[in-house]
Amino acid sequence: MQVTGASLIAGSWQIAEQAEIFYGFSPKLNLPLETPVYEANSDMLEHAINEAERAFKVYRKTSYQQRAEFLHAIADEIEALGTLLIDTTHQETNLPVARLEGERARTMGQLRAFAQALEGSHKSIANFGCTDAAVPERTPLPKPNTELDYIPLGVVGVFGASNFPYAFSTLGGDTAAALAAGCSVITKSHTAHPITSELMARAISLAIEKCEMPKGVFSMVQAKRYDLAHQLVAAPQVKAIGFTGSFSVAQKLLETIGTRQERIPFYGELGSINPQFLLKEQIAQASNSLASQLCQALLMGNGQFCTSPGLWLVPAASSAFIEQAVEHIKASQSDTLLSPNIVSSFKQSIAELKQSDEVTLLAEGVLNESHHANAHLFTTDIDTFLANKALHEEVFGPMAMIVTYDKPAQLLALVESLDGQLTASVHGTPADLRKAEVLIEALEYKVGRIIENQMPTGVEVCSSMNHGGPYPSSTDVRSTSVGLNAMLRFLRPICRQKAN
Ligand code: NAP
Repeated sequence: MQVTGASLIAGSWQIAEQAEIFYGFSPKLNLPLETPVYEANSDMLEHAINEAERAFKVYRKTSYQQRAEFLHAIADEIEALGTLLIDTTHQETNLPVARLEGERARTMGQLRAFAQALEGSHKSIANFGCTDAAVPERTPLPKPNTELDYIPLGVVGVFGASNFPYAFSTLGGDTAAALAAGCSVITKSHTAHPITSELMARAISLAIEKCEMPKGVFSMVQAKRYDLAHQLVAAPQVKAIGFTGSFSVAQKLLETIGTRQERIPFYGELGSINPQFLLKEQIAQASNSLASQLCQALLMGNGQFCTSPGLWLVPAASSAFIEQAVEHIKASQSDTLLSPNIVSSFKQSIAELKQSDEVTLLAEGVLNESHHANAHLFTTDIDTFLANKALHEEVFGPMAMIVTYDKPAQLLALVESLDGQLTASVHGTPADLRKAEVLIEALEYKVGRIIENQMPTGVEVCSSMNHGGPYPSSTDVRSTSVGLNAMLRFLRPICRQKAN
């Protein structure tokens, strides 16, 4: 398969005349890659949007079975990309091959799970809806027949994140959920993996042909300039946005959405510090294993997970645990981050923490190359943490803060002070957990997923998953971006009322 750096506009691969060129980046070599990528222009995007609107009117009428076949075909085409896909993404992200293979399998699995839901062979949200029968003889007024159904929203704009080039990007969860729901999709490629974005768009383009779907049902624009991102969210034909990325960029897109005449749902899946509550008996019994599991979870993907455990609440007298965590971090080797911007913002956050007299650096990992990021473990006490809101912010990369507490009661105050989180874990023996019932109940109102005695990294794709959380971990607490219920975000209820 040939890669061209072009954009997919309603079935045709296009490069604008005199297009500006940009390049992907090799985090490993710390150098731009050689394949040119051509910036799409505003006319191309406008055309994609119009065609997506036209395609929607056809695509929304496809049967569940046709959509299921389409989703299976997309998964097949992703698989057919074989090592070209993995090698390309590895070059663009330096994420390990095994991790990429796992993420690719998960991405295909997600498409197939939606397909199975549509086929009705999976515990399904596709067949929901209900009817209330008419009661014509009811007095004083007859009761009408009402039927609740769900219909797709329309054209959906999708923005992916750098750290999940498959699962939360061009053909990731939002695209899969929107297509399953019967919406057409336009994605902006991610500049941290533009050729991966192209390959994924080629896979869906082949599936569109194979399944004879309307060509405008999916378009992908290559864009490093942000005016196209804002044009997409401002377009009146676009009826919802799925966004995975940082809080600051979500705010910028929301500002543009705020200027629209018609407000639309913006599903922003953002960052989180994923607090880890280590309770007294558990840490006394299992300090070694807890230290090693937390460090491994932190170092996974070099800390570049939205579910990375960034805040560890630890009883003040837990010196064995802290010593073990320090040893793990000191022995850890540095690695690349996904883009030069992410490296520089990580380094800036670490420099600020090192200068702060409110926190202490406990340990840092080995820094092998200057463009790498090495792990950092800081500590402070709970009162200082409570008083300084800046310490509650996500540092995207391998950094965790141990916050020590003296009394369990302090943890309740901490929970109250927390912003919304994607996840929180409580690590405790059965007796610890019984004593922590009030804490756990309070935590449920701060997180989207509450975890007992497990690490937060790894989000299972299944019917009962919820990936999202109270603001600012996501912008719509009622919606999940992972699991079959993600389809609901791109559907809306309609009631059909008849006399009988
Ligand atoms: P990002 O910098 O916010 O980028 C996300 C998207 O926004 C990209 O398509 C990017 O395009 C675009 N963008 C960047 N600046 C923009 C601007 N000024 N105006 C309009 N669009 C703009 O995030 P990232 O570095 O890719 O991802 C890391 C973040 O995502 C972390 O905070 C992480 O926690 C979060 N994340 C969350 C989840 C979740 O499920 N909650 C999952 C994964 C990651 P370009 O490619 O052109 O920059």
